[in-house]
Amino acid sequence: MASKIKVKAKKIIIAIDGPAGAGKSTVAKLLAKRMRFLYIDTGAMYRALTLKAIRQGLDFAQGRQLTGLAKKTRIDLENKSDGAIRVLLDGEDVSLDIRKPNISSFVSDTAKVPGVRKEMLIRQRELGSKASCVLDGRDIGTAVFPNADKKFFLDADFKERVRRRHKELKENGQDISWEDVRKDLQNRDTIDSSRKCAPLKQAKDAIYIDTTKMTIEGTVDILYKWINP
Ligand code: C5P
Repeated sequence: MASKIKVKAKKIIIAIDGPAGAGKSTVAKLLAKRMRFLYIDTGAMYRALTLKAIRQGLDFAQGRQLTGLAKKTRIDLENKSDGAIRVLLDGEDVSLDIRKPNISSFVSDTAKVPGVRKEMLIRQRELGSKASCVLDGRDIGTAVFPNADKKFFLDADFKERVRRRHKELKENGQDISWEDVRKDLQNRDTIDSSRKCAPLKQAKDAIYIDTTKMTIEGTVDILYKWINP
């Protein structure tokens, strides 16, 4: 009697890295929707942990405390049907809170702690093992999924990145000046690219895309074509 052999569909991993304001998260979200993949916003995980650290009054110079906190913190990312994501911190919906400027000010200090990164990497790999997905962050192609099926590095001129982030925050009702956004991006760029553990850098085999003069839709189209030539 012929037996049925179940062939497991291969899970595909798309890694999108780059600095803040390069368009990663919007592009990743739309690309995931188009591909019917899961979208994993790894920055949201570091942001959620930072929110908890602020609430508990932790000292951001104390890496050990942050690592301890990371180990006992539950962070869930849910993909909603409209393509948006919901971020749950120990079961509480913190999707809006984690986008506030005070979180942006400290998130890179949380993310530079090796113990925190180790914990997040384990969780991100676990999430990525469940389904085909698009992940965006700073170290996806270099550290989390070095064997990703396709890797992209999205970049844009600094001024344009500030303009986009400022617009986005304003649209979300945040009262923040252009100058404060500029300082935040510069500060995060510096810490993220100079930290010892998994710094922000382009993976050797990543496709570099300068989005300065590109629209979101145009960028998504380009990525889609690289994945489905
Ligand atoms: O992507 P987003 O700007 O929300 O990320 C917030 C911060 O989280 C980054 O500035 C960086 O410090 C950290 N991060 C990281 N590695 C990732 C994703 C985000 O270090 N994979």
